[in-house]
Amino acid sequence: MISLLLTALCLQISSDRVSIPPAILEITEEAIQADVNHLADDAYYGRYWLSPFGRKAAVWIRDQMIEAGIEPGLPEGAWFQELSKKDASPNVVGIVRGKNPDAGYVILGAHYDHLPPRRRGEDKIFNGADDNASGTAGILAIGKAMVALKDRLESSVILIAFTGEEAGLKGSRHFVDQSPIDLKKVRGLFNLDMISRGTKNTIFIDGAKGAPSLIKALKKANDSIGLTLRVDEHPDWLSRSDQWPFITKGVPAVLFSVEDHEDYHQVTDHADRIMADLARNVARLIALATLDLAGGEGVPSPNAEDSSAEDASDPTPRTEGTP
Ligand SMILES: [Zn+2]
Repeated sequence: MISLLLTALCLQISSDRVSIPPAILEITEEAIQADVNHLADDAYYGRYWLSPFGRKAAVWIRDQMIEAGIEPGLPEGAWFQELSKKDASPNVVGIVRGKNPDAGYVILGAHYDHLPPRRRGEDKIFNGADDNASGTAGILAIGKAMVALKDRLESSVILIAFTGEEAGLKGSRHFVDQSPIDLKKVRGLFNLDMISRGTKNTIFIDGAKGAPSLIKALKKANDSIGLTLRVDEHPDWLSRSDQWPFITKGVPAVLFSVEDHEDYHQVTDHADRIMADLARNVARLIALATLDLAGGEGVPSPNAEDSSAEDASDPTPRTEGTP
């Protein structure tokens, strides 16, 4: 009796669980680590937004998007949204187009800028591996998965690598002020800012109260991913990263982040200190939730029989020639 009950319970649990599409399983630790290694290299001098190294990072991010099959996200095929300030590096905007132009957008955001080098010390460069090469690597990996899953997208998925976050949310403020899209049509924004340090397999999510549909999709997706989600423990973080300008415009938005750590805003925020497995799991979680939100009707059941059963029980007669 007990074993029967247990079996029934297990079946119940497994059938509620969303299967992870292979394209999302292709978001690997190695892919995340490689992108973080690249962006956090000394060659980028900390990707400061008012330096040529900021722009150099923007060019590399654009090239990664092109290689992944992502399309330019701005009018007239442009990738770069330029800010008015002299020498400022641009926001990089890409899009994976869904099937239904009326189904709105899901936005994936992460700032790629970090801090200018310091004058003294043996190590002068703020590499910003966790902050925020990790989030940038995250949206690139998710974007690539969305290209492979394009047929399942109703809404379009927009990727924004923001500039000037460290200088006061310059890029995200500019984006909402000069938005190339109708912000009322945004179903949600996932902002990734530091996703690769801290406690094993644990991520903080803030903004859930103002974004119930996002948190619902994330919790459902997490049944398959198994992260420890710590929700709305840091409401003070909401105004401190790029989700904030969107929230002030009424866009449902959440922030993914870890708590400040010993290398936060230090020259020691190095690529070899990140937890790529954590960043991978966060990216997979967001990819699944994005698929759910952009898919319109949620992620289809992995069990093909389910959908055929649904079709068979559809009471609507389908007669040819009926208008
Ligand atoms: Zn940051």
